[in-house]
Amino acid sequence: MPHVVTSKCTGCKFTDCVEVCPVACFYELDNQVVIHPEDCIDCTACVDVCPVQAIYDESNVPAEFQADTEFNALKARELKDSGREAITAKKDPLPTAAQRKAELGY
Ligand code: SF4
Ligand code: SF4
Repeated sequence: MPHVVTSKCTGCKFTDCVEVCPVACFYELDNQVVIHPEDCIDCTACVDVCPVQAIYDESNVPAEFQADTEFNALKARELKDSGREAITAKKDPLPTAAQRKAELGY
């Protein structure tokens, strides 16, 4: 089962996760990143580096984020199939990141 970025990432996009992924399976949207389900090898490296704990194993995604599994698969496949490269280098977080992080209780 692949790992899934939940909507806790929305508005943060700290991107610590993309740097530690050994297989470059993160794709970038305007407001968050998503994981390509066929490329993720479940190494779990990204889970602990996310400052807002947005990433879960698919089998463990909390009920409130269930829709995110399909969202990651759909968006990541769409971007990869369109020729977009995976994101592998850390960027500055979104301007809303600090506020969003506080709202999420981290
Ligand atoms: S580290 Fe967390 S908040 Fe940052 S881009 Fe990755 S999943 Fe999103
Ligand atoms: S679990 Fe590993 S392979 Fe999957 S997205 Fe995270 S770092 Fe990449």
